[in-house]
Amino acid sequence: MTTDQAERIRGHIASLMHDIRPEWDVAGCVAALRALPDMPTGALTIAAMRYAGDPANTTPAMLADLGNRAWVSDWHLPCRRHPQNRAWRVNGQCASCYADRQAAEYEPRPARDTTADPHPLETALSRLGSRGSRECI
Ligand SMILES: [Zn+2]
Repeated sequence: MTTDQAERIRGHIASLMHDIRPEWDVAGCVAALRALPDMPTGALTIAAMRYAGDPANTTPAMLADLGNRAWVSDWHLPCRRHPQNRAWRVNGQCASCYADRQAAEYEPRPARDTTADPHPLETALSRLGSRGSRECI
């Protein structure tokens, strides 16, 4: 992101912050945004809006404090395949995605061979003849 782009984005975010908190001037909001390290615009916008909406924050200056609760996110993207669910995995999947994947990977056990001799040892011993199966055991 070029410096001009970053400055333009800061100006837009500062305007939104000013709309939420009219007592904060845009220049002060821009200054607070400049104090932050580079980060994705979406994360910056969300945190700035949370910060401005929090009545505990009296000036824009503390937005640069990454320990401020505006930076703590309890907000989650919805799952793309299950929009009713929160995506809670790092890859954006939800619990339903996990269950779907588990079901797709599930392989049932092979069917039992019903033609097999249920007593193979006794059958083998009975084939030995007169010595019989019970006497050898
Ligand atoms: Zn899902």
